[in-house]
Amino acid sequence: MTAIASLSPASSHPAPKVAVLVVAAGRGTRFGSHVPKQFHNLGAKSILQATLLACTGGLPQARIACVIHADDKAQYHADTAALGLRLLPPVIGGATRQASVLAGLQALQDDPPDIVLIHDGVRPFVSAKLLAAAVEAAQTFGAAIPGLSITDTIQKTDALQQIVETLERDHLYSVQTPQAFRYHLILEAHLAARAAGRITLTDDASVASFAGHKVTIFQGEAQNRKITMQEDLARANADLLADLPDIRTGQGFDVHAFGPGNQVWLGGVSIPHAQGLIGHSDADVLLHAITDAILGALADGDIGAHFPPSDPKWRGAASSLFLEDAMQRVAARRGRVVHIDATLICEHPKVGPHREAIRQSIAAITGLNLDRVAVKATTSERLGFTGRGEGIAAMALVTLRLPA
Ligand code: MG
Repeated sequence: MTAIASLSPASSHPAPKVAVLVVAAGRGTRFGSHVPKQFHNLGAKSILQATLLACTGGLPQARIACVIHADDKAQYHADTAALGLRLLPPVIGGATRQASVLAGLQALQDDPPDIVLIHDGVRPFVSAKLLAAAVEAAQTFGAAIPGLSITDTIQKTDALQQIVETLERDHLYSVQTPQAFRYHLILEAHLAARAAGRITLTDDASVASFAGHKVTIFQGEAQNRKITMQEDLARANADLLADLPDIRTGQGFDVHAFGPGNQVWLGGVSIPHAQGLIGHSDADVLLHAITDAILGALADGDIGAHFPPSDPKWRGAASSLFLEDAMQRVAARRGRVVHIDATLICEHPKVGPHREAIRQSIAAITGLNLDRVAVKATTSERLGFTGRGEGIAAMALVTLRLPA
């Protein structure tokens, strides 16, 4: 590899056809979880969702395909459908990272790009600037990867962990992705490596080098960290929260009366009951209280203002629509709901047997982790309208965080 190359900010090349392969087929054995790390939550999104959003936002003209493990198809489709992104169909990866990348490259063969960026699915902090620099570097050099010069002293040891050599760090870099190549160069390099039986090369620069190409290092970014260990994810989540210092609490309260029917909706769950709840929508008193709590924390009106009962559009509507709308208002302010605590007040139906289903439903609608959704229930000791069994009341407290 040659030294870090400085790139001219203004491109002298015509706009190339760019594709991005996001490699997310790993099992994450170092991460220590049965769920692959790319599907763990970073803020309100999975790591992979965050990475895909960074790529599509940074290179809106590029075609983007994910290389995934066959076992992860359902999770992948759920994650990407939720984002509404336009991606190429996913490619099923191979037994090694190298095999996965080759499968991804081959999937692009019918409509080959000029430039392909190969990016780790667990590097969600890649910036638009770095993505653009990668495209530029690939056009200029044919094969280029981002790297950071090493500031720590690097020691080489023997099998007894004893130092045998102090390495000259001036020529050492820790390398990142996106690794960037002219498409045919890296495709042919991968095919050559496979044909030669070199199947465990750990990155695409090594594959290009193996095939005899010079690979140039361009300036990477410290923020472009790879999430490899649980500690990396904890730190990344802490960094995200630090960017949301405006902590707010909202409260919501709602009541619906019993009427004819044979079920009640509570938290998006249908519960069989001798009566229903009367309301313009599905009368989900719990989701209404939570929705109002979010709107309260945003100081953005109330559920009646946004979904007037006078509007026939909302007749019989699933109240999850109202909660989703409130969550979108949080997202539009680049905020994040961090906790929901709700209480149902009624004599009947008994909430306990349905509590976990209700929590899971609310977690699914909001995208929160289950450990951030509390649902409690109480009677009012036969006092008042709830005590007389005339209806159900719900209270909710929501904590959310907004940027400064
Ligand atoms: Mg209501």
